[in-house]
Amino acid sequence: QSDVLAQALKDALKEQGLENEVKVVLSGCFGFCEQGPIVKVAPDNTFYVKVTPEDAGEIVAEHIVKGRKVDRLLYQDPETREHVADSKHMDFYKKQMRIALRNCGFLDPENVQEYIARDGYEALGRVLSTMKPADVVDTVKKSGLRGRGGGGFPTGLKWEIASKYGADQKYVICNADEGDPGAFMDRSILEGDPHSVVEAMAICGYAIGASKGMVYIRAEYPLAVERLQKAIVAAREIGLLGKDILGTGFDFDIELRYGAGAFVCGEETALIQSLEGNRGEPTSKPPFPAEKGFWGKPSNVNNVETFANVPPIILKGADWFASIGTEKSKGTKVFALAGKVNNVGLVEVPMGTTLREVIYDIGGGIRDGKAFKAVQTGGPSGGCLTQKHLDTPIDFDNLIAAGSMMGSGGMIVMDEDNCMVSVAKFYLEFTVEESCGKCTPCRVGNKRMHEILEKITQGKGTEKDLARLRELALVIKDTALCGLGQTAPNPVLSTLDNFGDEYLAHVRDHR
Ligand code: SF4
Repeated sequence: QSDVLAQALKDALKEQGLENEVKVVLSGCFGFCEQGPIVKVAPDNTFYVKVTPEDAGEIVAEHIVKGRKVDRLLYQDPETREHVADSKHMDFYKKQMRIALRNCGFLDPENVQEYIARDGYEALGRVLSTMKPADVVDTVKKSGLRGRGGGGFPTGLKWEIASKYGADQKYVICNADEGDPGAFMDRSILEGDPHSVVEAMAICGYAIGASKGMVYIRAEYPLAVERLQKAIVAAREIGLLGKDILGTGFDFDIELRYGAGAFVCGEETALIQSLEGNRGEPTSKPPFPAEKGFWGKPSNVNNVETFANVPPIILKGADWFASIGTEKSKGTKVFALAGKVNNVGLVEVPMGTTLREVIYDIGGGIRDGKAFKAVQTGGPSGGCLTQKHLDTPIDFDNLIAAGSMMGSGGMIVMDEDNCMVSVAKFYLEFTVEESCGKCTPCRVGNKRMHEILEKITQGKGTEKDLARLRELALVIKDTALCGLGQTAPNPVLSTLDNFGDEYLAHVRDHR
């Protein structure tokens, strides 16, 4: 749709004889999916929403030619009904802080010069010319950055461990195998700002002593693949990737490998297996990839969003980053806000922002005036939180304490019409389907749990089944080999805890 719209704008400009004076740029995502397609007119930063190809002529004739904003295409504040022309004044953006998404929607991702104009590759230049590898590791450690792919492991510590292993070859691996249903933050960064990941991987390579980078990317993300490929080629052409980068003697280059969409391949050891051409199954840790990773060599694995945070940390300093967020979770987190909220989209907020702020202030509250019932964070293996958790400041530890997790940043809101038993069954269906089958608790246990849920939703369950469900969930959590199995029972456990009455109603109603 955006391609058609862009062409319509180009045609309209041509009709006015302005095709050489006004440029139409296809940018990445602005995050406000609910209001898309979005057209931003620069330099006056006018933000048009829900634009169709039929609107292109009016935008050009009125705004570009006569300098008059097209009111009907401006965002309308839902309360005041006033037209808002600038994204800064929209509730959706007011509480957001864009670090990982800083460039998405603001530049042409296929033009390296635009990235450079927004301080792109300055961090790499600074690192190579003024910092020792240990200083880089130290800066990332001090910033408090934790892995955004789900585990929340301290990134600087991970880099430090990888840097300490001596080897003739080391690898920097970018996990771009975003598999959570409804999550699209990594895709958005790769589509909207691919150079930020290329730059961060090179910085990581320098810090840990690696000369090769691999991006494991979902083949179902064709635009992300294309833009990343173009970014790698462009960076090579201007000497920012390849041999002797910027004449410093540092060599680093990046290759892409395509994932076929298996959720388990987001787990770093399964990802490495798949990179090597094996079946994507997790392996036991230790050894950790930092010691023996890709082809048995020390490898550092971070996901896309984690890498996207690195250049600003180098440029603005560890203290700046550490000043944002909570005591143990620094910086921001990107969430894919979806479900029954008014403003569906991609949001980036400082850690410590409450669920209420995200759902109501940014998300605009529940659709059709319905009542909020639950929010599921952390993707298919996250937990379902309820009203009493709305004022929980979002960070890695608070979400776990509340019975959920950060995961990679999926956030799905449910209203009064959602049956929480069916919700738990839906997520379990996904994890059963995606289990690699290597270990028994996950392969068999999750299937048994799913059968019990099926029985309950069909009206054939008993209270004994509820006890069995909990028992199984706790055993699987404790005994499964990898994160997928260990977290798969979360939707069941959290709904049993927070919505036990709904389970009981199913059991009683259908006796
Ligand atoms: Fe495979 Fe599940 Fe075991 Fe992980 S927990 S290794 S996905 S069977």
